[in-house]
Amino acid sequence: MSRFFLKCPKCESTNTEIIKDQRWRVGVNDHIFHCRTCGKSLYGAPAAQEVERQHDEWQKGAAARKRQEMEIARRAEAEAEKRRQEAAETARFVAALAQKKAKEERKRKEEAANNNSYCGWVTCDKGPKNTRALSRPNSKYCSRDCSNRNARDRHKRRTRAA
Ligand SMILES: [Zn+2]
Ligand SMILES: [Zn+2]
Repeated sequence: MSRFFLKCPKCESTNTEIIKDQRWRVGVNDHIFHCRTCGKSLYGAPAAQEVERQHDEWQKGAAARKRQEMEIARRAEAEAEKRRQEAAETARFVAALAQKKAKEERKRKEEAANNNSYCGWVTCDKGPKNTRALSRPNSKYCSRDCSNRNARDRHKRRTRAA
């Protein structure tokens, strides 16, 4: 808040003074307003009235400035709160996306694990130590070889049954 300066009502200068009027008993009306710039003087009641008027005006201005400052602060706080909410919403969205991605990844791994079953050729020995090998992705068999052997076997059994 700016300081209150008494201004000359004639020339607007703030180079002014209030002097106690030595001729009278001291009261609020026993003061002289004097401008050092233009020499303007006010005696007694008019001097007190002028000081009171200027001080009231200054207080009104100060109150308005204070209201304005509070309004600016209130708006800044509202804006900051909005930003916080937006950031929280973004964080929630990012977390939801990450969760969705993790779920899909789990599902993909589960499916891959399920597909990792053994070769469809019952006597397959292409795995470690001549054991049954795992099937290849998107295939019932571990190899073209096992697939062919299975086809031949199926054909043999059919013709035998006929
Ligand atoms: Zn003056
Ligand atoms: Zn095989």
